[in-house]
Amino acid sequence: MGVEQPLGENVLTTSLDKLVNWARKSSIWPMTFGLACCAIEMMATGASSHDLDRFGIIFRASPRQSDCIIIAGTVTKKMLPVIKTVYEQMPEPKWVVAMGACACSGGVFDTYSVVQGVDEALPVDVYIPGCPPRPEALLYGLLKLQEKIAKERNSFGSALGLGERLEPTAA
Ligand code: SF4
Repeated sequence: MGVEQPLGENVLTTSLDKLVNWARKSSIWPMTFGLACCAIEMMATGASSHDLDRFGIIFRASPRQSDCIIIAGTVTKKMLPVIKTVYEQMPEPKWVVAMGACACSGGVFDTYSVVQGVDEALPVDVYIPGCPPRPEALLYGLLKLQEKIAKERNSFGSALGLGERLEPTAA
């Protein structure tokens, strides 16, 4: 019974980094935050037909409870300071997804009022092209983000204040 029973194949070994990464990638909580038409596709992705909840991806209404921000829509220069404030209110670790042509590069709006890519201000982890990207594209991008989180190094050490969390090295 219990501990006396040989564990056999019921033993898993892993590193603490992998354990932390697994927990983080399985509970991505994006900000409820949309800027333009791409946000409609983001909402559709969260609805029942695509069901982000099954991946542990659950939208939150407060930056203080979020670890991911999906920049869904056109980033105007007037809106950029607001985006930066919301991002800074999110606790570490946090990730950024640029959804759609506007967020990635300004899209068709090569004008004085539009930021030509949100990566001018935020460290983007995943870029999703398209105008607009379909919910399947956002879903794919979020799965790519999960893969990226799974490969991060020193996740456990950085949580204890021992060094920086390291991005996965390029394959
Ligand atoms: S990429 Fe297209 S759909 Fe998305 S916000 Fe820009 S114009 Fe709208």
